[in-house]
Amino acid sequence: MTSSCFNFITYKILLKLPINLLTLIILSRWLALVEYPFWKRMTQPSDSDTHIDQKMSALKDKRRVRDSNLRIFASPDQYPIVYSSKYDVTFYGLEKMHPFDSQKWGKVFRALKDAHFLTNHNYVIPNEATREDLLLAHTSAYLDTLKQKHVLAKAMEVPLVGYIPFFSKFADSFVLAPFRHHVGGTVAAACLALERGWAINIGGGFHHAASEKAGGFCLYNDVTIAIRFLLQGESIKKAMIIDLDAHQGNGYERAFTDDDRVYIFDMFNRNAFPRDEEAKKGINLAVPLKRFTEDEEYIEKLETHIVQAFNEFTPDLIVYNAGTDVFDADHLGCLSITEDGIEKRDEIVFKKAADLEIPIVMVTSGGYTEDSANIITQSILNLKKKGLLPLTKTQKPKTDTPKPKTEKSFDEVEALAEKIANL
Ligand SMILES: [Zn+2]
Repeated sequence: MTSSCFNFITYKILLKLPINLLTLIILSRWLALVEYPFWKRMTQPSDSDTHIDQKMSALKDKRRVRDSNLRIFASPDQYPIVYSSKYDVTFYGLEKMHPFDSQKWGKVFRALKDAHFLTNHNYVIPNEATREDLLLAHTSAYLDTLKQKHVLAKAMEVPLVGYIPFFSKFADSFVLAPFRHHVGGTVAAACLALERGWAINIGGGFHHAASEKAGGFCLYNDVTIAIRFLLQGESIKKAMIIDLDAHQGNGYERAFTDDDRVYIFDMFNRNAFPRDEEAKKGINLAVPLKRFTEDEEYIEKLETHIVQAFNEFTPDLIVYNAGTDVFDADHLGCLSITEDGIEKRDEIVFKKAADLEIPIVMVTSGGYTEDSANIITQSILNLKKKGLLPLTKTQKPKTDTPKPKTEKSFDEVEALAEKIANL
């Protein structure tokens, strides 16, 4: 009985085998043609999803700017020069393992005091950037990786430091905190430049840091953060970066590649670090220089191309990266610009900003010799001597200082975005 039943079932299956196969083929084709694309649509973000994500991300950034305490008020008797004694990086002498003089910022400040330009009261002290401020330019995952001592030591280009016992215990206060003060300084200086026509952060200019990774002694990209701070806060509509450090500014070039509100003019040693081809897509006006370029050619190229930059773009703010590693004796920059050439260079940029009545903020960026602090100091004193750093505002910025956004207007925009997201 059992055997007969089994034979019967087998017979029925065999009889229907061609029909079953045909059904399977039709079903699989239908799944491939209809269901799979449907599933794909369900699981992959559409253009409208991406658009909503971008809107939500922009709103988060606006909230960060609204809640930030990096915007600093300066009294009329204070120069818009920003500095904190917390800029210098010290770690029991081990910082000397790096070719970068990590105490040059303090040296510049003290030299400007010795020259009777700055006093203990006539400059501006910035606040330290918070994690929320840093998220304007960096991913949360990247900021978390900096808590790992070996990642941080490698980012600082002193990997051996990562093997020091208890390094991670002190890394935040000894290494990361100074750089967060530099970020605060560049944001504060950029805000002050809009009010006063010019500003200088004695630190800042960490132009190799990208959103998700460090590079070349740069952990946080203070310039990207400052520009996003002003754009998202609607203090400016357009910015120009003039990068005259010896190295290509690949961090912010990657950040602003698809952002036509930011124009980047970069003059750099084409043979030096980082030679980042992908980031070069973010440069609007690139002037690659050959090794050991000297003053005459350097100044001629600057004068020609700075005219071209402003013919192509009219910003509300200039961010000037005044790296001094173009100096003749700087082995990492490998250019041959003299101290006089650097003074002339900075003067050309500040004079152009003054002539065009466009606010300018300067950051000091690279410079890796014992002479770097003195070169920065002498150039700032030269700018003062030439009347380019007035205490009272003589320029008329193109953009008025914005009124702070009210809670009501922000909440209205946020509610509208949530409505869109719920559609
Ligand atoms: Zn450099």
